[in-house]
Amino acid sequence: MGYERALLGGKRVGAGNGGFLIFFCELHVQPRLRQELADARSVPVALEPEVTKVIFRRTGALVSRPCLFLDRDGVINVKPPDGAYIRRWDEFQIIPAAADWIRLFNALDFLVLVVTNQRGVARGLVRAEDLDDIHARMTAELARGGAVIDGILVCPHEEGTCDCRKPRPGLIRAAQRRWDVDLARSLLVGDSESDRQLAAACGLRFLMARDGRIVGGAD
Ligand SMILES: [Mg+2]
Ligand SMILES: [Zn+2]
Repeated sequence: MGYERALLGGKRVGAGNGGFLIFFCELHVQPRLRQELADARSVPVALEPEVTKVIFRRTGALVSRPCLFLDRDGVINVKPPDGAYIRRWDEFQIIPAAADWIRLFNALDFLVLVVTNQRGVARGLVRAEDLDDIHARMTAELARGGAVIDGILVCPHEEGTCDCRKPRPGLIRAAQRRWDVDLARSLLVGDSESDRQLAAACGLRFLMARDGRIVGGAD
């Protein structure tokens, strides 16, 4: 699906048997096309500016992949008290087990995506730029330990104003549009009833986490 979006930036003219995709595009859209395809996990193997040709090798993301969806608060980091929000990185405390889970599913070639409700943004209690900063640091910190997160999907909206606040399925649908996720082989780890409901609505296996342990789940 991410690959379909890449077509916006260039004309696909071929796909070799060796898993290569060849695009022709205007020079000025090459950086965007490269980014789109990088997001879809295709590795650029050649770039010929004079003929505006870009060749990418598929790495698997262009076929449907299973995904480990992770809730954030209470799964990746210690949950703030009820009614409180994590507003800055110095309030963010990673749960070590989360890195273990991510490394395991990285090794199994699952996508790993974070799906998180953050209505503190809509309430003016968390600044969007601080949330971005927290997520950039979280991703970097986990990556330093060999745990790779492929993407973070956030609902910053107030309850009842959108289709993406969990348990509504908007974040999972967005993930499907951007990555080609095989939902039937995917699972969601969360710590709340809304995560369980989301998983049920989207046909995902569900695991309930508490304090870095799986305490229940998959029916
Ligand atoms: Mg949670
Ligand atoms: Zn939303």
